[in-house]
Amino acid sequence: MVDSNLDELRAIVIRSIDESSEGLIAAAKSVYGMPETGFNERKTSSFVKKQLEQLNLSVQTGIAITGLKAVIEGSNPGPTIAVIAELDALRVPSHPGSDSDSGAAHACGHHIQIGALLGVATALVNPDVKDSLSGNIVLILTPAEEFIDIDERLTRRSNDEIEFLSGKQEMIRLGAFDGIDMAIMIHASNIDGNGNFSVGGTTNAHLTHQVRYIGKSAHAGGAPYKGINALQAAMFANAAINTQRETFVEDDVARVHGIISNGGTSVNAVPDEVLYEGRVRAGSIDALRLLERKVIKCYKAGALAIGAAVEIQTVAGYHPLTQSDSMGKVFVENANLIFGQHSVISEPSDRNHGGSTDMGDLSKIMPVIHPYTKAASGIGHGEDYIIQDYDRAVVSSAKVMAATVLSLLHDGATKAEETIGKFKPHFTPRQYVKSQRERFTTTTYRSQ
Ligand SMILES: [Zn+2]
Ligand SMILES: [Zn+2]
Repeated sequence: MVDSNLDELRAIVIRSIDESSEGLIAAAKSVYGMPETGFNERKTSSFVKKQLEQLNLSVQTGIAITGLKAVIEGSNPGPTIAVIAELDALRVPSHPGSDSDSGAAHACGHHIQIGALLGVATALVNPDVKDSLSGNIVLILTPAEEFIDIDERLTRRSNDEIEFLSGKQEMIRLGAFDGIDMAIMIHASNIDGNGNFSVGGTTNAHLTHQVRYIGKSAHAGGAPYKGINALQAAMFANAAINTQRETFVEDDVARVHGIISNGGTSVNAVPDEVLYEGRVRAGSIDALRLLERKVIKCYKAGALAIGAAVEIQTVAGYHPLTQSDSMGKVFVENANLIFGQHSVISEPSDRNHGGSTDMGDLSKIMPVIHPYTKAASGIGHGEDYIIQDYDRAVVSSAKVMAATVLSLLHDGATKAEETIGKFKPHFTPRQYVKSQRERFTTTTYRSQ
């Protein structure tokens, strides 16, 4: 083992990230310029592969279609830490950075995660740093974190291209996280004046319903009374869902929302098929189940009122995020050392951000942290969500993550072992896969 002390190694890490800062920011901006939706991130994936290969890393490709994996081996045996970045964009056609064909845009800032991951890789491949580590680092690029394009992904599922609809879920199923002991990533959030980063808090569990109303077509002018209007059934269901809002428990941070992704074919015919995509979110899987029962009654109410049939397909979504306190502590210590005291805002573990992430799923299997780098302006997922501070989003994030990994695996990986010792898994990867499979169901309700 090279006998360098932690402060010297941290200085090497910071220096190597500083030296490559321009290239890291340029890489993040290149990814911003090629936004691709989940499981379609082919350009992004091959771009990142090349960047990793320039660091002499051997890259495994095509995991869950576009996912990537590369290993940096420490000199001594020890735990394995995954450093994760997400490859996908979402669809916001009005965003200034959107792709004119697909409408995809990095309106969640995932491109900065890629720049930060490349920074971590740059720092940790340094032989002085690597030789001091007891354990390995696995760089993982995950597809499809944004849980969108459900019909497209269900088609991929029918074609056996994927089984689960998100990247991390699918990578867990494929064993890409087997042998990994803990995971860290960083996500962009708004600049709000307080600190450079935030850590802690939780996110919602969720699920999706593909709700297909089947009615009967008829001439909308000549004989509407001979039709069964599937659109009215969907709208009635949406109104029924709204009647339930006063029954939602505040602490559950329930969110029920949907879109009509097919509202009928032609205006002069009674719509005979309508697709309503419903999303249900809550702070726990139990609360989610209760909420789902209410919502399903509302879907059926729509069909019953109009005399339509409804097919409700439940698609397994995300688990709530549980973050490791001891990893969080190491992150905060390092951020404070590099950027000064109070550079991190720590949030209580029950502070629920309302959104959902598939890091939640991973957090049921291994200790994880999902801190935020405060670097954007505008509203997340909105047309005005723009990264303002690339230096903080990419360079500072890379420094804190690399220094955190270094602290965890330095000194015989004492801190990593402590983190692992404290963690109580909710699932093994195989139990997780079985439980997710069971969350997929389809029911049909005919009102006549
Ligand atoms: Zn997002
Ligand atoms: Zn995101």
